Amino acid sequence: MEYQTTSAEETEHIGAALGLRLRSGAVIAMTGDLGAGKTAFVRGLARGLGVTARVTSPTFAIVHEYEGGRLPLFHFDLYRLSGSDALFDIGWEDYLARGGVCAVEWSEIIADALEPGAIRVDIRRGGNPDTRIITITEGDSICEDTGH
Ligand code: ADP
Ligand code: MG
Repeated sequence: MEYQTTSAEETEHIGAALGLRLRSGAVIAMTGDLGAGKTAFVRGLARGLGVTARVTSPTFAIVHEYEGGRLPLFHFDLYRLSGSDALFDIGWEDYLARGGVCAVEWSEIIADALEPGAIRVDIRRGGNPDTRIITITEGDSICEDTGH
């Protein structure tokens, strides 16, 4: 699915809609340049999951954890990571096993560690300064049953 947004709020809204539909163990593999809106999207994801804490960029911490929503949210920013070996060192498999949602900024850095079922979210700039093109490729991490 491809969406076009013209504000950070609209991008958050797309993220929130996805957050409502995620199942336990979902991985959201995000790509897009600095300032594309990845963190804005994750802010929406958190809202959709019912996380009330304010989501801030985990650039220096690598990962922020948010409990209290329908599922735990693990928000990774791998900008400073050298590759997937370093990701396994910080406990990637433990995070996967915890039954939450892993949202990963700069996921291209760990491309070889991503399972095929990951949901891909690519955000790129459009024609105007606030325009973004968001492409979501759904893996098998989405809930089948969205009727409630
Ligand atoms: P990233 O995590 O990809 O580096 P951020 O979400 O931290 O990006 O920042 C995106 C910046 O772009 C914010 O300053 C936000 O206000 C701005 N922005 C402008 N238009 C949009 C849009 N349509 N979607 C998302 N962010 C936007
Ligand atoms: Mg970010």
